[in-house]
Amino acid sequence: MATLEIRDLHVSVEDKEILRGVDLTVKAGETHAIMGPNGSGKSTLAYAIAGHPKYTVTGGEVLLDGESVLDMSVDERARAGLFLAMQYPVEVPGVSVSNFLRTAVTAVRGEAPKLREFSKEMRSAMAELQIDPAFAQRNLNEGFSGGEKKRHEILQMEMLKPKVAVLDETDSGLDIDALKVVSEGVNRFRSGDTGVLLITHYTRILRYVKPDFVHVFAAGRIVEQGGPELAELLETEGYEKFTKAGASA
Ligand code: ADP
Ligand code: MG
Ligand code: MG
Repeated sequence: MATLEIRDLHVSVEDKEILRGVDLTVKAGETHAIMGPNGSGKSTLAYAIAGHPKYTVTGGEVLLDGESVLDMSVDERARAGLFLAMQYPVEVPGVSVSNFLRTAVTAVRGEAPKLREFSKEMRSAMAELQIDPAFAQRNLNEGFSGGEKKRHEILQMEMLKPKVAVLDETDSGLDIDALKVVSEGVNRFRSGDTGVLLITHYTRILRYVKPDFVHVFAAGRIVEQGGPELAELLETEGYEKFTKAGASA
C-alpha cells in the first residue's frame, strides 16, 4: 500500500521561511483536505512536493513508500507514482490533449504505449469520465473553460493511475462546473488505491467531496486536524480562530 509521508517539512522562498514544520501522512485510498486562509503556505506545500526550483526545502523529508522524493527529479517523481497537477504547462500551442496524454503516459511508464492500445485506453477513460470524444483532439488548454481544465486534470489521473495525487485547487477559476468535475473525479479515485491530497481555500468543495481527514493550515503549519466535521465548522466559523492559533504557535 502506497504511503506519502511528509515529516517536519521546512520550505523557504527567497530566503523567507514559508513552511515551518509540516507533518502529514497520506495512505493509499485516503482523501485528505488541506484548508487554510490565503497566504498560509498551501500552494508552497504543493510546489515543494512537485520539486519546483523556487521552493527550497531547508529541513524535513518527503517520502513515497520510504523513498525520498526530494532527491528525485520532477520526472522521477511522476514515475514513482506522484501526480502533481501543477507541474504541467498551462498552455501548449499545437499539442492536442491526446498527444499530450500519450507523452505523459510514456514518461510515467518508461515506454511508449502502442498507439492502438493507447487510443483504446484513452477512449475508455474518457467514456468513464463522460468526456466528449472530440475533447481528445482539442489543443491543450487553448480556450479551455475552468471545467475543461479540471476535466483534463482528472483524465490525466485516470490514465496515469498515480499512487498519490496532489491537487491544488486555487480559489480562482473554480466555477460550479469545475467544482463538480473535481469532486466527481476525486470521489472516483477515493474508492480505489490512489491517495488524494486536496488543497483548497474554499470549504464549498467539501460539500461534494467527503475527505477522510481535514487539516487546517495557518502560517506554514498544520494547526488543527479532524474529520469532515471540521470542514463544516470552518464553513460556519471561518479561519479566524485558527489563524490566531497559528500566529502564536
Ligand atoms: P496559499 O496557497 O495558502 O495561499 P502560498 O503558498 O501561495 O499560500 O504563499 C505563502 C506565502 O509564501 C505568501 O506569503 C507568499 O507571498 C509567499 N510565496 C509563495 N510563493 C512565492 C514566490 N514564488 N515568490 C515569493 N513569495 C512567494
Ligand atoms: Mg521544525
Ligand atoms: Mg494557493
